[in-house]
Amino acid sequence: MTERIHNFSAGPAVLPVSVLEEAQRDMLSLPGVGMSVMEISHRSKTFDEIFERADSGLRKLLGVPDNYHVLFLQGGASLQFSMVPMNFLPAEGSADYIITGSWGKKALKEGKRAGAVNVAATTADGGFTRVPANEELKLDPKASYVHVTTNETIEGVEWKQEPEVGGVPLFADASSDILSHPIPVEKYALIYAGAQKNMGPSGVTLVIMRDDLLKRIPDGLHTMLDYRTHVDNKSLYNTPNTWGIYIISLVCKWLLDKGGLEAMHRENEKKAQLIYDAIDSTGFYRGHADHDSRSIMNVTFRLPSEELEKKFASEATTQGLDGLKGHRSVGGIRASIYNAFPVDGVQALVGFMKEFEKKNG
Ligand code: PMP
Repeated sequence: MTERIHNFSAGPAVLPVSVLEEAQRDMLSLPGVGMSVMEISHRSKTFDEIFERADSGLRKLLGVPDNYHVLFLQGGASLQFSMVPMNFLPAEGSADYIITGSWGKKALKEGKRAGAVNVAATTADGGFTRVPANEELKLDPKASYVHVTTNETIEGVEWKQEPEVGGVPLFADASSDILSHPIPVEKYALIYAGAQKNMGPSGVTLVIMRDDLLKRIPDGLHTMLDYRTHVDNKSLYNTPNTWGIYIISLVCKWLLDKGGLEAMHRENEKKAQLIYDAIDSTGFYRGHADHDSRSIMNVTFRLPSEELEKKFASEATTQGLDGLKGHRSVGGIRASIYNAFPVDGVQALVGFMKEFEKKNG
């Protein structure tokens, strides 16, 4: 089978076809190099150039200020759940966590291992259908940091603007909405994201970190778990995921050619709106998230029964719409429509939703 289907997977997720084609074309030999990117030294000049393209591409797209480090680490966003508190939650301090879904809960769990944590707000009671208003936040002005999940991939709940945290450093897990819209990086002290949704394959984790944080890191951490190791060695202390960084460099070029994150954001909003309109136009489908917290990356909705949801996901698969089953922890349907997901795939889903309702509604 060489034909591509519509891939609604939450991650690893769809990548731009032109990026895959370029990677395929240069798989056996990078132009003028005679080897694939997976076979060259991470300390070679060729890799230096690839690394530089990924680094400068991300800096340009996101408008990363000069006093921020851009790191390409491993261990996924999940390792960041631990590295963040190990580096920045001192024994005598505490950290604020705002919990808007399943990934925030996981980050909190690891934070607790390192020290005192305060749940500044949680929307668990309503089933994680929204982000809290600023008035609901019980922030500690002395907290070491405030942690948020900018887009909860499982529930499909997204912050539309940063919470107001005063002078406390704001840290974000942006795994599932990084590069989907512009972000004011300067409002954050640290941003981390696994690559496997909007940036590239799994196995690379992006960390964007303000330089002044480094002096807070305690001595005595394991070398690989200390951010200073990776800053001092420009992400090359050990062998990085060279393939992943290469694909990120191509994705950055693809995004820059498209007009950057503002253009991408407009496209993403249009795609998401098509599905949300289909949900709102009938009582058959029920959106999970409140309107003002709806994710433009992960559209989550329910059908009248679990049987119908099962039937919906399996019939969709037979029509080339793959990966629509919601996460096992919450059920329902989830359409992940990351940057590279094409608008005709969204239109195909909307058409399928209408047909399915006609037959089963
Ligand atoms: N945070 C968010 C918001 C995620 O969506 C995911 C993965 N789906 C993770 C963290 C965990 O990422 P990883 O698998 O890279 O550890």
